[in-house]
Amino acid sequence: MTEENHFTRRRFLQFSGLGLAGAASGAKATSALQDSSQDGGMPPAFAKLLREASLPRAKGARVVVVGGGWSGLTVAKYLKRHNPAFDVLLIDKHPSFVSFPLSNSWLADQIHLDFLSHSFFDAADNHGYHFLEATVLGCDRDARKVYTDVGYIAYDYLVLAPGIDYDYARIGVDDPEQQELLFQHYPGGFVTASELLTIKHKIQSFKGGTFLLNVPNGDYRCTAAPYERACMIAAVFKKRRVRGKVLLLDMNTGIKIKKNGFHRAFDELYKDYIEYLPSSEISGVNLDSKTLSTAFDEYAFDDAIIYPPIRASRLIEETGIANPKSPQQAANTDPFRYHVVGDEHVYVTGDSRGQPFSKGGHTAHSEGRYVAEVIAGHALGKEVAWRSPQTMCFSSVEIDPLQAMSIITYYTYNKQTKLFDFDRTHMIEDWDLQGGQASLAWAEGMFRDLFYR
Ligand SMILES: Cc1cc2nc3c(=O)[nH]c(=O)nc-3n(C[C@H](O)[C@H](O)[C@H](O)COP(=O)(O)OP(=O)(O)OC[C@H]3O[C@@H](n4cnc5c(N)ncnc54)[C@H](O)[C@@H]3O)c2cc1C
Repeated sequence: MTEENHFTRRRFLQFSGLGLAGAASGAKATSALQDSSQDGGMPPAFAKLLREASLPRAKGARVVVVGGGWSGLTVAKYLKRHNPAFDVLLIDKHPSFVSFPLSNSWLADQIHLDFLSHSFFDAADNHGYHFLEATVLGCDRDARKVYTDVGYIAYDYLVLAPGIDYDYARIGVDDPEQQELLFQHYPGGFVTASELLTIKHKIQSFKGGTFLLNVPNGDYRCTAAPYERACMIAAVFKKRRVRGKVLLLDMNTGIKIKKNGFHRAFDELYKDYIEYLPSSEISGVNLDSKTLSTAFDEYAFDDAIIYPPIRASRLIEETGIANPKSPQQAANTDPFRYHVVGDEHVYVTGDSRGQPFSKGGHTAHSEGRYVAEVIAGHALGKEVAWRSPQTMCFSSVEIDPLQAMSIITYYTYNKQTKLFDFDRTHMIEDWDLQGGQASLAWAEGMFRDLFYR
């Protein structure tokens, strides 16, 4: 057994409250797991976790896909398309899907929540796979088992697509209690749907003053979204004649994407509403005084959306497959075939991936189609040639009617530098009605593909 597996089992025991005594020694923890699997004296709720989950018997090789976001949904659908004999199980800890793409337009009342919300059961039913609402806790790659809060599940292939987590320590907030409070009161709106509901309420009830937003540094989820969100919030304030401003603190030296377009939107549409400050490296947040500090200044706010830098989902680290060299603890995977280095039965896709592709839903979708083909090919002993994911991103800047800019790009691998570069980028920085309509048509097409026949 590898050290990684010891770690996973140990964490599992800690989670179940059984491993505290054995946690100091991997060997002890492992034997505690074996003993406890007999259920002797264990509270029933914990014993359940160590039993096999109650599921219909797999009718073919079982592929477990963890995470029903843009990535996991795509992989699950296209695995069945490429190999109908696979028994595909999609697991998500939430009961239904809410789209982040287009959520900024919802914040500005340009679409209904119904447009963004979809059922995992519809997706599973229409595409011939199973859906299980459960939280994945870890895995044992030697035994090919994935552990969940409803029991373990044996797999032939495992795809991990659990997305991202916030990294509050990188804005100087180290204390877990403070992190929790910051998340609850000033959510970034980039990880869970319930954050979006809080943000919408904040925007609707804002009476005036300073509404602070920030752009994180490093590779963060959806490069354009924080700038787009600033425009959408400013548009709402302008429409409602709120006496307030959006203070946009950018932890980068300048706007990272669609730079001319966003600068023009800030100047032409929201001159009286958006104050944009680049090179604003956040070093702390004081919740009591409602102030945020950077190296040189302190900013008071009346309300805020604080988007800290991000890391790959903690599940990647906790399953022992994070790349120690990755600043975001992303998975240590083969850059072309997506499997964990040394294990062709475990794959990582979507925003937890190790490759530096743009963290976007469209990227995850085109990549997911390819990875499904790779896994189906592996089962049949067939090689699938690498193809680049495609990134496509619309950014709305004006409302009533919705108007948007867009970008589309691919990636190429530079054999000399051994790095991926952008390839064939096409950017439209003049927003218009057609862009707004195209954003809606794009999302509708994606939802149709992922959820309906
Ligand atoms: C405001 C905003 C606007 C955006 N706009 C665009 C856009 O215009 N175009 C675009 O292409 N992209 C956009 N994106 C980015 C896009 O949403 C993400 O890149 C995409 O969601 C990544 O997909 P994913 O499947 O990797 O992760 P996610 O969509 O986050 O899915 C991960 C899933 O895993 C589940 N999960 C996590 N841990 C566990 C566990 N332990 N057990 C069970 N389930 C688990 C979660 O519940 C979640 O459903 C935007 C994002 C935001 C926030």
